[in-house]
Amino acid sequence: MTTKTGALKTPIGDDAKDWQCLTCQIVVRSATLPFKCPRCGASRVKFIISGEAGEGEAE
Ligand SMILES: [Zn+2]
Repeated sequence: MTTKTGALKTPIGDDAKDWQCLTCQIVVRSATLPFKCPRCGASRVKFIISGEAGEGEAE
């Protein structure tokens, strides 16, 4: 028996993450932290990773 049970297989098509601007709430999908907010121009320190819970919201 070589079947691995319990191995968490996460299908990752790309490394994109959802970055949310704390200032205007816009969500930017990017693999890297945006340099600034495309909407309000807030600096990158205002971004958090959105949807880190892992359950994945339907878009
Ligand atoms: Zn913003």
